[in-house]
Amino acid sequence: MTLEANRIRLIMELRGQGITDSRVLGAIERVPREAFVPDTFRDQAYENMALPIGSGQTISQPAVVAFMTQELQIGDRMKVLEIGTGSGYQAAVLAKLCRRVYSIERHRELLVEAEQKFRELRINNITARVGDGTKGWPEQAPFDCIIVTAAATRNLPYALLDQLSPEGVMIAPVGKTTRDQYLYRFSFDSEGYLEQKKMWPVRFVPLIDDDDAAPS
Ligand code: SAH
Repeated sequence: MTLEANRIRLIMELRGQGITDSRVLGAIERVPREAFVPDTFRDQAYENMALPIGSGQTISQPAVVAFMTQELQIGDRMKVLEIGTGSGYQAAVLAKLCRRVYSIERHRELLVEAEQKFRELRINNITARVGDGTKGWPEQAPFDCIIVTAAATRNLPYALLDQLSPEGVMIAPVGKTTRDQYLYRFSFDSEGYLEQKKMWPVRFVPLIDDDDAAPS
């Protein structure tokens, strides 16, 4: 099958799995995933699975990208923060739905490649930088949405919640091991108390807290 046929099949599959938001489906349809996977995996670009992208990292499964994006309910005036740029695919999907995406990646090589893709595809509303995403991007806060695409294994990235607007939504995988990892949705109630909702099981690469990694 051609990539084009595979892309249409993937969109149908996502629809069948419960992605009902037509803006989200439209964004996924318009971002060429083959541009974000290594050449050797090009044929599999529209398979509904995660794929390796170098530096030991992965591009997330399309269904996971779609569910997380749908859950954020992104409006076209919003400012969105992503932690874990990776291939840049999720950022590119977000960029179709909001005013500006800020994205942080700790591997410089991945970030350089992702930025190259954004330029080639003329996606101009993503600002990305190398850094430790657990600290967020305080200069640009508050954000309407925050999406964490690597799993917090020890501490929840509380610094990120401080950078979420009062009506904002953050979605992040949390869990000590890959077999016990769930997506959580964080928001604040009308009195400003944190609400967290455990959603579905996922498997993300770990979110590296550079403070933990530093020699003592
Ligand atoms: N959103 C990506 C998937 C990335 S996989 C995509 O669409 O392709 C998770 C990424 O998070 C990896 O690239 C990893 O290097 C990065 N990461 C892990 N810990 C991080 C941290 N503390 N700060 C920034 N990036 C981090």
